[in-house]
Amino acid sequence: MVMMGYVRSNYLSKYTYDVKLGEGTFGCVYKAFNKDSGEVVAIKVLKYNQDVQNNLHEVMVLSKIQDHPNIVQLKETIAESNVLGLVFEYMDCSLCKLIRDVKLGRRVCSEVWVRNCCFQILKGLDHMHKSGYFHRDLKPDNLLVSRGGIVKIADLGSATEFKPDAPNTEQHIGTLWYRAPEVLMESSYGPTIDMWAMGAIMAELFLLKPLFPGIRSTDQLYKIYSMIGSPDDLSWLGADADLYEFPPLKEIPFVKLMCHVSKEAFDLMAQLLSWNPSKRPTATEALRHPYFKPCYEVQTT
Ligand code: ADP
Ligand code: MG
Repeated sequence: MVMMGYVRSNYLSKYTYDVKLGEGTFGCVYKAFNKDSGEVVAIKVLKYNQDVQNNLHEVMVLSKIQDHPNIVQLKETIAESNVLGLVFEYMDCSLCKLIRDVKLGRRVCSEVWVRNCCFQILKGLDHMHKSGYFHRDLKPDNLLVSRGGIVKIADLGSATEFKPDAPNTEQHIGTLWYRAPEVLMESSYGPTIDMWAMGAIMAELFLLKPLFPGIRSTDQLYKIYSMIGSPDDLSWLGADADLYEFPPLKEIPFVKLMCHVSKEAFDLMAQLLSWNPSKRPTATEALRHPYFKPCYEVQTT
């Protein structure tokens, strides 16, 4: 395959390129085969020179977060002249595609599968957060699934270190639909924004469509409060609390949208989707939620 605009380095040519798997903000991802071993990999190649910085950032973050079964594995980095390739283990599809396939009736997605999927994402998040980093762009496109049902967190291009003494304030991060209220309201934030995104993803797995599909930041907030109700307390916003006023809307229990979902699942989703970031469970706490009890039960058949 010809990769447009790139100088083909010798190193990159140790792979045979197959289909394009994805195209995102910072690069194109190709399926490829190692010519010597036949191993299938996914290679993320930068689009333009200015993206090198972002790709290197992803490499740096991945090197700080040690290997974990629920974080996509970076096998090698190829940096030559104006080419930067990140060689990842190959995963069969994104969670986004899987949701689409289920919606089209091409696959089945049982509640057991949803539970296992969320459990694995939370394990990856727990590891990342304990390593001092958070993702900031958790969404179905950035979660990858293998044929054996293993789920891994990918695309750490927006991940950042969490320094409790200097919470982040950079605003235009993450994808709107999964963006936590504190980011939308231009407040400081930390790893709890990943927990919000986790709540939205969990709901999407049940609904098979995004829970809060906003168009702009203001519309996004509207989508949120019209679904989970207006916040009764904004003290967590600090001095910025006075800037916002919400209509006194009650939640339309999204329970009604998902009649087949267990009460444990709702309870966990409701906790994750708390307006107040400090009310959201950490990944460690979420993993201890009764919803995941079956994940700890040893199969004895
Ligand atoms: P971007 O920063 O461009 O969003 P991603 O790392 O999210 O880059 O990759 C873009 C898309 O490429 C993903 O949504 C997924 O569909 C596909 N992809 C990425 N990594 C892999 C992989 N290791 N295996 C299979 N597909 C992948
Ligand atoms: Mg991505």
